[in-house]
Amino acid sequence: MKPMKSKETVHRPLSTVRQKIVALAGGVGGAKLAHGLAQILAPEDLTIIVNTGDDFEHLGLYISPDLDTVCYTLAGLANPDTGWGRVDETWNAISNIEKLGGPGWFHLGDQDLATHIERTRRLKEGQCLSEITRDFCKAWGIHHTVIPMSDNPVRTIVETDEGDLAFQEYFVHRRCEPRVKGFRFDGVNEAEPAPGAREAIQSADAIVICPSNPWVSINPILSVLQFSILQRPAPFQGHPLSIIAISPIIGGQAVKGPAAKMYRELGIEPSALAVAKQYQGLVTHFVMDKIDSQLEPEVKSLNMQTLVAGTLMKTPDDRRQLAEDVLNFIGTEQ
Ligand code: GDP
Ligand code: CA
Repeated sequence: MKPMKSKETVHRPLSTVRQKIVALAGGVGGAKLAHGLAQILAPEDLTIIVNTGDDFEHLGLYISPDLDTVCYTLAGLANPDTGWGRVDETWNAISNIEKLGGPGWFHLGDQDLATHIERTRRLKEGQCLSEITRDFCKAWGIHHTVIPMSDNPVRTIVETDEGDLAFQEYFVHRRCEPRVKGFRFDGVNEAEPAPGAREAIQSADAIVICPSNPWVSINPILSVLQFSILQRPAPFQGHPLSIIAISPIIGGQAVKGPAAKMYRELGIEPSALAVAKQYQGLVTHFVMDKIDSQLEPEVKSLNMQTLVAGTLMKTPDDRRQLAEDVLNFIGTEQ
């Protein structure tokens, strides 16, 4: 880990610094910051590596919720109200499936279904997820690189007081109600990073851990990529790899989803500090919200550089602003 120097802070203006960034993202929270970064960075300077631990098969289709959320968001196709699924969506297919007695608990819109049908067809032909994702991104006009964390299956299992549940079973079908006891990522030991992920990490100036759920969005990615991150060559000419995390917990609460509930059920008080502690030893820079500024000294004591910023992304401008703050922070020597 990079020791903090007591030198005065030197800000390098963003416009004069070219930074190669790898962003690690889950779904909704990750996609928003990835979109902010994509508004600033050139396509060749941003690679987004996305969690696939949530992937599952449903109605005979291969569904990759976080990958689709990131792609729809970058392409401007996402539903702005939910953050997931497509804008101007219709629900004819799923309501007719329900009328026939089929499962309707996983909400699949008509446009969204097209993605899953075509992806499944190509997977059955023997193509891999990263290749299909690359082609879909091209079709959707996404210029930055989006890579699933692995082409091999990794499946997040939520260990609960009602037994082990596949992630979507816990998250959507059971609405995160069972008490969480732990998590495991089946297949992770056999999973290789998808093509391009290792290379992107090798040449990155910084890895940005988006404000995604640490337990079930970021940990699966880190489990697959940790060797690539740890095996980076030694710092070059005083420019070590910065690893910067943005807290998904604001004021002790998750903006959306079960992250805070998970911390509580695991016996940890949810806070930006709890997130920082989870990433201790890996992360060099940590961003927390303004309303959590009182936690800054404690986060600093974890040997991380800190930034207090507005981290709630309600509008596209908020996303861009946070991305800019993050990039300026990395370009800051303390
Ligand atoms: P999922 O896969 O769709 O559940 O999405 P992620 O794991 O990427 O994101 C869920 C996490 O994002 C939750 O813990 C939220 O608290 C966090 N989140 C969502 N929106 C925001 C935001 O605008 N700012 C911050 N800091 N966190 C957010
Ligand atoms: Ca997810």
